[in-house]
Amino acid sequence: MFSTRYQRMYNNLIEVCKRNLGNFNENLIRKAFDFALEAHKNDLRASGEPYFDHPYEVALIIAKEIPLDDISIASALLHDVLEDTEITYETLVNHFDKTIAEIVDGVTKIGGVIRDHDASQAENYRKLLLSMVKDIRVILVKFADRLHNMRTLEFLSRDKQIRIAKETMQIYVPFAHRFGLAQIRWELEDLAFKYLDPDAYEDIRKKLKATRREREAYIKKTIAPIKQKLDEEGLKYEIEGRPKHFYSIYRKIVNRGKSFEEIYDLFAIRIILDTENIYECYNVLGIITQIYRPVPDRLHDYIAIPKSNGYQSLHTTVVGPEGKMVEIQIRTRRMHEVAERGVAAHWKYKASYKPSNKEIEEWVDWIRDIFENVSNRDEANRDIIESFKLNLYQDEIYVFTPKGDLKVLPKGATPVDFAFQIHTKVGFHCIGAKVNGKIVPLDTKLNSGDQVEILTSKNQTPNKSWEKFVVTSKAKQEIRKWIKQEENKKVEEGKNLVSKALKKLKIHINNDDLLKLVHRAKFDNLNEFYKAVASGSIDIEEFLTHKPEPEKSPVVTELEKNEFEKFASTAREQIGGVLIAGDKLDVLHNYAKCCNPIPGDEILGFVTRGEGVKIHRKNCKNLERLMSIHQGRIIDVSWPNTDGNYFIVAIKIVGEDRPGMLNDISQTIVNTQNTNIKSVNLQTHHSIFYGTVSINVKNLEHLNRIIEKLKKIPGIETVERFEITN
Ligand code: MN
Repeated sequence: MFSTRYQRMYNNLIEVCKRNLGNFNENLIRKAFDFALEAHKNDLRASGEPYFDHPYEVALIIAKEIPLDDISIASALLHDVLEDTEITYETLVNHFDKTIAEIVDGVTKIGGVIRDHDASQAENYRKLLLSMVKDIRVILVKFADRLHNMRTLEFLSRDKQIRIAKETMQIYVPFAHRFGLAQIRWELEDLAFKYLDPDAYEDIRKKLKATRREREAYIKKTIAPIKQKLDEEGLKYEIEGRPKHFYSIYRKIVNRGKSFEEIYDLFAIRIILDTENIYECYNVLGIITQIYRPVPDRLHDYIAIPKSNGYQSLHTTVVGPEGKMVEIQIRTRRMHEVAERGVAAHWKYKASYKPSNKEIEEWVDWIRDIFENVSNRDEANRDIIESFKLNLYQDEIYVFTPKGDLKVLPKGATPVDFAFQIHTKVGFHCIGAKVNGKIVPLDTKLNSGDQVEILTSKNQTPNKSWEKFVVTSKAKQEIRKWIKQEENKKVEEGKNLVSKALKKLKIHINNDDLLKLVHRAKFDNLNEFYKAVASGSIDIEEFLTHKPEPEKSPVVTELEKNEFEKFASTAREQIGGVLIAGDKLDVLHNYAKCCNPIPGDEILGFVTRGEGVKIHRKNCKNLERLMSIHQGRIIDVSWPNTDGNYFIVAIKIVGEDRPGMLNDISQTIVNTQNTNIKSVNLQTHHSIFYGTVSINVKNLEHLNRIIEKLKKIPGIETVERFEITN
């Protein structure tokens, strides 16, 4: 049950919401109010007031200054429960929803990042903050939170006052400016100024106060003829003369090197027109210049060319009564709203007042637009804008070293990227990493705000696998360079071992012959071989003295492959293709390149997606794997029965290249059961004879008999069925 105090506060908040928000869910705000009140019930602020007064005031600031929606107001009420009470993120999700829980979580996190680190790297901090924010309402609640903390700063120690005021000046003020939140920006700036330079602040305050009466009289005098003329024209408007905020006066004094008394534009007269017709602004400008003489070069048309944060207005300086210069600003009501409330005001002029998620996205786009369409006049802000752009795209992360320095890394960066960013040596000797105090795998993706510590060891060297997960080009290059260097070292080492062994064994071998040996041992090139020697996986002396296995077939050449293809397709064609359940397989089919089945092999069909049926050998390793995944896609196929008919096979013969060899071979074949030779193909290389012979056979028994007879020919080393399987 509410005490009357809280009932009054609640009523007040709802009233402000009704005034500024249009449609909103009062139940949600009520629920958040009750929840926060209960969560903070035992806590007090530094001022001695109930802690709940703080989130309440923050919600009120949102409702008054940046009225966006009920969700941001509820989030403002709840913004400190994760940090200061036992309430957990899950509880918030259950009680409210994920959106609100995430906003509160976001506010807590960016608060923590700012508190735990020195804000001297202000530029990077602004980037860091934005990169952490996925919902722009997080920033709005944080602005309001900071504003209320600044308003109540007097209760803190002097040290804290200075630290918080500095932070405000360095981070929050430029932020608020960028978001077009002029009111909040001015108040933050003046409050920070008050604590950072109390004497200067007090001096300006006193002087403004002392000259107030005089100034107000002057403003009245200046305004009177303008009012008269605007009334005659029948225009609806509001006109006011306001002193500029303290810090901007202070800046003018410092920048222009003048005294307070010499600053003429201590105030500006502002005319707000109740019209949406922007040309009225130019009309009013014309009227004013008929009354007061304009100062040349002091007309700024921010209507035609808005400021980068969306600000629109006409500014002119005229010579007012008593020859004093006066600045006059002319704008429509809508321009005024945008000027005061920035991004939040944007909604007031949209069809629906309560933005949907899609509209929030559009809002982000809109901000992005502002940043992208910044004019050249804003040169000074270029860098900031650049960084905002990046972070709205969320493609950078900001992480801390153990000392609190910020490092910028691309999204997806890992501790290894971070290590190389710090120093190549750190990268080379990195054995592990701690993120926020916990040991993590080296391929862990870092997040903005993480504190990263790299563990190193002198004995550690880069790992080849790092190359797969690092994202920075620096890390990638360094790892590649290192791998290359290591490889070169190994090659040199291997080369030395080989030449030492050759010397010791007194073997003379030219490079070509060595390469032949190396190829026979299935190495692609000499470097691969040298590396294997250096790593010890090959005993070089044994390798050099070991007689190569004669039956070891040389590497399959392209030539051989082509020849086999030719033979296989003839053989398949001649036998009449494959059968399914005794009938010709007449759907799209082809023969697997992995096992190259030919007539005589036991075969199976595999139904592929889009490529018809693939015919494999029954014992194909590839097929085995496919079968284990897609059992249902295997079909039984066979070659036509050749009983009584001949089918074509090829045999491969390797032997000594001696005179009469070919004759011996062909005689042997022809004499075995009158076998017909279809084609012969042979080549010789280093006195070795390689031949393939295709023949017509009746069955496998017939083939085996021929093979046995061929093996008996002097000088023949191997005879086998010609097949190519990978
Ligand atoms: Mn707070």
